[in-house]
Amino acid sequence: MKNTRLCPKCNSNKLLRIPGKHTGYGAGNIIIIGWSALNAVKVTRFVCEQCGYSEEWIENEEDIKRLKAKY
Ligand SMILES: [Zn+2]
Repeated sequence: MKNTRLCPKCNSNKLLRIPGKHTGYGAGNIIIIGWSALNAVKVTRFVCEQCGYSEEWIENEEDIKRLKAKY
């Protein structure tokens, strides 16, 4: 979905990209690693405008490495 720019469910190309954001106190579209939400990994969400299907991606390579180290 991120790479094809197409919805895998309905083949629509109308996708919304919602960037991961830390909105404070551990809230937002993030994965907490470590003690503080400050270094949490941000998760980008892709949503199909047509059918509402959504997919989540961690777009930063460094963040994936940090997750790997933690889990
Ligand atoms: Zn769709």
